[in-house]
Amino acid sequence: MSEAPTVDALAATLPALDWTTDRERVALLSRDFSWFSPILKAALEGKSADIAVRPRDEDELRALVAECARRRIPLTLRGAATGNYGQCTPLAGGVLVDMGAMNRVVWQRGGVVRAQAGIRLAELERRVRGDSAANSAAKSAKEGGPAYELRCMSSTFRVATLGGLFGGGFGGVGSVTYGPLGAPGNVLGARVLSLEPEPQVVELRGADALALHHTWGTTGIVLELELALAPAQEWLEMVVVFGSGADGAGGDAAPDPAAGFDAALDFGEALALAPGIPKRNIAVLADPVPGFITKGTPRWAPVFPAGHAAALIAVAASAEPAAAALAERFGGRVTHRADSAEAQRRNQTILEMTWNHSTLHALKVDPGRTYLQTAFTAGRHLEQVRTMHQRFGRAAPGEPPDAAEVLMHVEFIRSADGPLICTSLPLVRYTGEERLQEIIDAYRAAGVRVNNPHVRHVEDGRFGGTLPPAALAAKRRFDPLGLLNPGKLRTWPPPA
Ligand SMILES: Cc1cc2nc3c(=O)[nH]c(=O)nc-3n(C[C@H](O)[C@H](O)[C@H](O)COP(=O)(O)OP(=O)(O)OC[C@H]3O[C@@H](n4cnc5c(N)ncnc54)[C@H](O)[C@@H]3O)c2cc1C
Repeated sequence: MSEAPTVDALAATLPALDWTTDRERVALLSRDFSWFSPILKAALEGKSADIAVRPRDEDELRALVAECARRRIPLTLRGAATGNYGQCTPLAGGVLVDMGAMNRVVWQRGGVVRAQAGIRLAELERRVRGDSAANSAAKSAKEGGPAYELRCMSSTFRVATLGGLFGGGFGGVGSVTYGPLGAPGNVLGARVLSLEPEPQVVELRGADALALHHTWGTTGIVLELELALAPAQEWLEMVVVFGSGADGAGGDAAPDPAAGFDAALDFGEALALAPGIPKRNIAVLADPVPGFITKGTPRWAPVFPAGHAAALIAVAASAEPAAAALAERFGGRVTHRADSAEAQRRNQTILEMTWNHSTLHALKVDPGRTYLQTAFTAGRHLEQVRTMHQRFGRAAPGEPPDAAEVLMHVEFIRSADGPLICTSLPLVRYTGEERLQEIIDAYRAAGVRVNNPHVRHVEDGRFGGTLPPAALAAKRRFDPLGLLNPGKLRTWPPPA
């Protein structure tokens, strides 16, 4: 940690800025959702910035950055701190920069929008759809112009920021159609500020902009992002449940606990591939994962009957009959339908049960669990999911279903290069680091990619051990002093 007098002197030099000096408050702001991982929770205990600041515009940010560079004070960027790896938790103290006030839409031209990094994803979506989200497509048609929406966003869209999704996220809702945020064509450009005594502003396009993606704010300060948009749809959220016996896919056969999940998985795949059904999300939760939702929020109990797997889907409202027919074909039963925009307004969207929200729901009722992030191989993805579910997803005879070691939660997406795959956020009963590593090794041995969410370095998560050369080049260019979120890059500073 840098010495408090150093940051006090910094604050005194820039008195007009919106500083937070209260140590408890600064410590709170320095924390994200890394507590999902018992390993990170222990490793990051007590780590905090020395001071926090909320720049109101580029001029304030630039003055701050210049001063930090001159004084060699570390600087860590914060969006909404919903990241999962302690990404915005400073390891070396210094200044935590809350980007939330830099939240303007700079412009929108047809299906392209440029916005400041601190804008919340929900607000950005509201702006590009038009004010009346529920009817924006119809409204815009009336006004003569098409309406748009975000191509993909994290399930934390309500609070998470655009810069945070770019700096620490992957994608999520929408990725079943548009792939992850990093798929070429989704992010068109970035306006980046360097951390130097004379900070430079640089516009990066396409792949050059993507070099900074998911580098946890270590390779440059993103001021604005330019995104390609999708045509807006009126989305319908549906839950389809699949039983294990006579009421589900198994007909009159003896109940088989895996049958419901198998049927839900096949339904998810068929829906993902159905060319005439526009879709925004397809999540499949194996029994007993839906039980975590109903235990935490009992009003959802009629939607998620015990003993059933569930598919949580968002499809175009016009495709409801086609989706329902498909569900029936696979033995599913629709237990819930809701207009997505309305559900979001009422804080009752099933989108907040997908992606890493399943971990949040589980941890609320079973703090002994943690999670993994995995990606299955295109073409073999269903087989791999089933193999891993067979191996780790069943409780021992006589034990309740939620005693199983790894509970499966699958998300269908298009990978960055196109094919349909499954990713998963399986819920793991945590019995120690060694056993967790054994499970990771077993997944990898089965050909499944594991993006380990229990690591502290950028290189060791999604990048699989090595920082891409383009990211290293960006680091050299935009943070030559190594002051951005120091300690998060294992390969920086490079050996002499
Ligand atoms: C319940 C739950 C569900 C989640 N679901 C998803 C999901 O569906 N998909 C997904 O991808 N992630 C998901 N996440 C992770 C996280 O919510 C998202 O990645 C989110 O978009 C991060 O946004 P944020 O504003 O909270 O970023 P923060 O956590 O504040 O920051 C993330 C990283 O980006 C850096 N950063 C922030 N702003 C800038 C900037 N302007 N310039 C450069 N770097 C910057 C920070 O330094 C940090 O390293 C989930 C997390 C939780 C807790």
